[in-house]
Amino acid sequence: MTAARVPMADIQGVVFDLDGTIYLGERALPGAVEIVTRLRQRGIQVLFVSNKPLEPRQNYAAKLSSMGIPTQTEQVITSGYVLGYHLARTRPELRLYVIGEENLKSELQDHGLEVLPEFYGQDEKVVIQPAGVDAVVVAFDRTLDYRKINTAYQALIGGAAFFATNPDKTCPMPGGGIPDAGATIAALQHLTGRQVELLAGKPSRLMVQVAMERMGTPPQRCLMVGDRLETDIRMGKQAGMYTAAVLTGASSRLMAEHAQPAPDIILENVGKLTDYF
Ligand SMILES: [Mg+2]
Repeated sequence: MTAARVPMADIQGVVFDLDGTIYLGERALPGAVEIVTRLRQRGIQVLFVSNKPLEPRQNYAAKLSSMGIPTQTEQVITSGYVLGYHLARTRPELRLYVIGEENLKSELQDHGLEVLPEFYGQDEKVVIQPAGVDAVVVAFDRTLDYRKINTAYQALIGGAAFFATNPDKTCPMPGGGIPDAGATIAALQHLTGRQVELLAGKPSRLMVQVAMERMGTPPQRCLMVGDRLETDIRMGKQAGMYTAAVLTGASSRLMAEHAQPAPDIILENVGKLTDYF
């Protein structure tokens, strides 16, 4: 497990995960500012990807900039952005029922997509049959409640398509993690016997496509850096990218060493990449 597995001189682009890789909460992780600065000085493309659809891309760019990593909105892609971008190009006519927070709804609407209002009735005990839902979108939603689950369930058994922004079970926070979209997806899959048909975030091919489009580099010349083995590392591997796992977020060294697919390198933190660039 050495850096010899990655021909660093051939790397033209580096894709960084955000939470648990570049920062945790409001704090940049050790060496994050230095490595991004170094890569840019070397003329290597840098792109930031997040599965978190809670805020618009410009907020993540502003957060990075405030930490000393000057970033343009175009240098950030989120699962919400990728979903909106993709649906606007392929299925712009779909009427969407969204389990998600306000930002995601606005982001989808900004792409010209129709987001249906909540189907709340007066009486919680009455089954509400949601009308006109072509697709259910499941995302990280800290306002999730029984009625949203019921609306999505009714729409799905009525034949609506089943999309999701990201599959993460938890979202890393300082001191632990909180339930993410993965739990809601699992509940609806369990309830309906159906599987998600379109996943926008990591580890999906869709996220890689948009990332590569933005960077203008082939995946074989890119390094994917992230803390989560089943999303960051899996996506990079599936796309033919080189991969580096960092131990500042969701994964321990033991987990990284036993991961399938295995990351090409394991780094204590993202700053350790400065040894190679
Ligand atoms: Mg992460």
